[in-house]
Amino acid sequence: MQFNPRYPSLNPKLYHHQMPVPLKGAKAGHFNAALADELQWSEQDKAQWVEICSGQKTFAEFPPLAMVYAGHQFGQWAGQLGDGRGLLIAQILDKSQQTIDLHLKGAGSTPYSRMGDGRAVLRSVIREYLAGHALNALGIASSNAVGFTSSTQGIQREKMEPGAMMLRTSDCHIRFGHFEWLNQYQPDLLEEFVQKCMEWHYPECLQAEQPILAFATQVIQRTAVMIAKWQLVGFAHGVMNTDNLNITGSTLDFGPYGFMERFRPNWMNNHSDYQGRYTYQQQPSIGHWNLWMWLNNLIQLKKDPAEKEQFKEDLEKCLEHFETTFLEHYTLGLCQKMGLPSFHKDSFDCGMMFLRILQTEQLDYTEGFIRLQNKQYESIKDDCLDRRQFESFLAQYENIRANQDTDELDAEMAKANPQYILRNHMAQKAIELAERDDFSEVERLFKLLSQPYIKQPDLEQPEDLAPLPSDVPEVMVSCSS
Ligand code: AMP
Ligand code: MG
Repeated sequence: MQFNPRYPSLNPKLYHHQMPVPLKGAKAGHFNAALADELQWSEQDKAQWVEICSGQKTFAEFPPLAMVYAGHQFGQWAGQLGDGRGLLIAQILDKSQQTIDLHLKGAGSTPYSRMGDGRAVLRSVIREYLAGHALNALGIASSNAVGFTSSTQGIQREKMEPGAMMLRTSDCHIRFGHFEWLNQYQPDLLEEFVQKCMEWHYPECLQAEQPILAFATQVIQRTAVMIAKWQLVGFAHGVMNTDNLNITGSTLDFGPYGFMERFRPNWMNNHSDYQGRYTYQQQPSIGHWNLWMWLNNLIQLKKDPAEKEQFKEDLEKCLEHFETTFLEHYTLGLCQKMGLPSFHKDSFDCGMMFLRILQTEQLDYTEGFIRLQNKQYESIKDDCLDRRQFESFLAQYENIRANQDTDELDAEMAKANPQYILRNHMAQKAIELAERDDFSEVERLFKLLSQPYIKQPDLEQPEDLAPLPSDVPEVMVSCSS
């Protein structure tokens, strides 16, 4: 590994050095060898992956640390938070010389654990491991993981579950909540912190006439693009608190996430989200709200009241880019999924009409687009109670596609519509086997989800392709497991 420790150069008030506390009976779960290669792990590092991914081996080049941050949770100010069960154990250069954080999740309690035990259970580790991998393979910026380990140590949740650790990778663990913490508790450190964020993550902004506005614009745009991509594949993050969004617009901390099956705009997977704040359709407006919370901290960088007022207006203008960027990406993506030309004035409405059919007929989102792509129109119609609605959609759809280069449009569709997503019941089956030390299903899903846009008949199983029948109880998922 090629170390590039940068976080420890920050003021020590921003973190706490701490060693991982290994679990009893740590054992191999799964290893992402391709990612380890990408991260320039040596043969020796790879041979020691279980020790590294279970907190038994750390690196002299980087003393592990827990970060402090704050945040708004479910819309309320939650005060000081921080890495309560994860440690930054290294920052290393990948093959393209990008700095990547290695963050060990489940590594024991820290000064920021509050009431928590500092641990993660195998179930939540497998869910995050597979989803990070799936999102990356879908082309959505996200954390990933080099590997995870299980253990013989029981951890108390609703029931006793095996403890586990996961070595998460991300281009950034700096959350909106970092800025909230600084602004609230150490405002004099904010300016230097913002400067470092720009140097590390947006160096081009330093050349701009107004670096901070350029920085804000970049973060806003990346967040908008990330959320547009979530919407297009039907991903619901589940807990979009300001401490779970980072400044590079890569998906982070998705515990109670889900990939939507039957199309329901107000769907959510997080059963501890009692108010329904983080439903699928709310994600863009929550992203906007979180960004505004974040920008509020930047306003404090100006001390002179007149300058402050002007700066606030400028930042508000930057935030206007959120909606336009989101809509631009979402519209283009939806047209691509539909196989419709984005320049045609009726394409977006036609896409919306298709979504309405999926919604009223309670059809599977992923499968619906795949059937459209495969021109299985009769099969969709057969599943519709309101067949006339489908016929009128199809007439408009074929009308828009007439006289277009449909080969090209079909090729675009194939790049935009995944054959496979990680359905809750798929992850659940892999978890149940893993809890009995059988990781074969984790391995099968890992492979399947590596190439989600390619049909893999030898690897797929019928349950991968559709929701379970509606009379089978849903898998329940909640926060922080
Ligand atoms: P989350 O909603 O999972 O992002 O967690 C919110 C906050 O609670 C973060 O600061 C976590 O580090 C902390 N946390 C979650 N689970 C635990 C746990 N089991 N032990 C200690 N801290 C935790
Ligand atoms: Mg979190």
